[in-house]
Amino acid sequence: MNEKKNLHTPSMRKARKRTRKDTAVVDFDRHAVLKDIGKGRLYHLDTYGCQANEADSETIRGILEKLGFAETEEESRADLILLNTCVVRSSAANRVFGELGRLKRYKRDNPDLILGVAGCLPQDESATERILKEHPHVDLIFGTHNIHRLPELLETALLSKEKVVEVLSEEGDIVENLPKRRFHAKKAYVNIMYGCDEFCTYCVVPYTRGKERSRPFEAILAEIDKLIEEGYREVTLLGQNVNAYGKDLESEASFADLLCAFHERDIARVRFTTSHPKDFDQETIEILARGGNLMPHIHLPVQAGSDEILRRMNRKYTSDDIVDLVGRIREAVPGISLTTDLIVGFPGETEADFADTLALLDKVRFEGAFTFMYSPREGTPAASFDHSVPPETKKERLHRLQKKVDEGYKRGHERFLGETVDVLVEGESKEEGMLKGYSPHHKLVHFAGGTGLVGAIVPVRITEAKTWFMRGEIDEESA
Ligand code: SF4
Repeated sequence: MNEKKNLHTPSMRKARKRTRKDTAVVDFDRHAVLKDIGKGRLYHLDTYGCQANEADSETIRGILEKLGFAETEEESRADLILLNTCVVRSSAANRVFGELGRLKRYKRDNPDLILGVAGCLPQDESATERILKEHPHVDLIFGTHNIHRLPELLETALLSKEKVVEVLSEEGDIVENLPKRRFHAKKAYVNIMYGCDEFCTYCVVPYTRGKERSRPFEAILAEIDKLIEEGYREVTLLGQNVNAYGKDLESEASFADLLCAFHERDIARVRFTTSHPKDFDQETIEILARGGNLMPHIHLPVQAGSDEILRRMNRKYTSDDIVDLVGRIREAVPGISLTTDLIVGFPGETEADFADTLALLDKVRFEGAFTFMYSPREGTPAASFDHSVPPETKKERLHRLQKKVDEGYKRGHERFLGETVDVLVEGESKEEGMLKGYSPHHKLVHFAGGTGLVGAIVPVRITEAKTWFMRGEIDEESA
């Protein structure tokens, strides 16, 4: 810890430790000191990265609006600009540093503006050092473990006009009843757990989001029941490894138990992300086979197809395990759509290793993937592994991989040609007079319709299959 007033900086060494045995559950309403410090003030929030960050941003918005702030799209009008950041890849981190440089001019125009950086980037100690050194115009820095402290941190930044840095290296308690302002009117993210204990060798998440902690079963159900009451149609259960839900709870509730409880509730759609293949158990597969509101799509990150690379990544499964798991899932839920994450150019990846990844794709036939070129993250074991792959080789492999992945996207759309699918309408598409939304298999669908349908679930007959989306028309007979 930096001993200067209001400066509490992170340490990757401490973040690696898993010393804390028990996690308390505390109530935000009972601890937060909420004053009207935002009354008459505007905030602008930018979110980078994954759904966990989007969910955190919903909490940040909820807290800010409880403090009286109102949201603005225009940075130039804002009294508070916050970047909720990502550090999982170096490109995401670099984008944030670029933004901090660009935003400097708003500080020049308005010296009272509070410029803040939140989220995963500050949890990385070298990133926080860099912000402090290269961007002294940043007023407020906080991490992923203390979002609930935003009222106090902001009050100090506003009243004392001093720089406030509070980034904790150890996860705190689970805070319940956090206020939220959701991004969608009909779709909601619900955290079921926080953190990760897997320590895949390339990943910073176990350091930036701390130890794995499951929310109490009843608290999750209470949140869902409230969402149902408020008219939400779809929930996505969130965690870095949702299949590990409950392992740290005394109650022995499991992820399959959670899905079972959701299956019985009156909500149209239930999704979840992200799954770790090694924890995807047969019980979960059997619950998914019940169908109904449990949507037939699983995002199953496999990362690579070479057993040697998987071992070096510390993924704890082999490519044969994946083929077996996918076989069991498809047997239980015929037609299910599977997508994945893949990394190319991991240290030591040979052409033969890469060929194993392509071969796994041929066997499993994913219908989409997020593909990444490996980039070392400071403080992770893989950053010190030998035999880095030359950038041009990484690029060339990524290109070949994407070609195969794109074929999967197209194939995944073509199989619905002529069929009618239910689309939860999210809003207008860029094409005039067209709406867009997602099918149960998580396929993006565009179709002609009026904005009165936004938020509704509409039957759409698929007439065209593109690589990135499907086109269709409202199926009047099924409507
Ligand atoms: S499971 Fe692995 S890749 Fe996923 S968040 Fe945890 S450490 Fe990172």
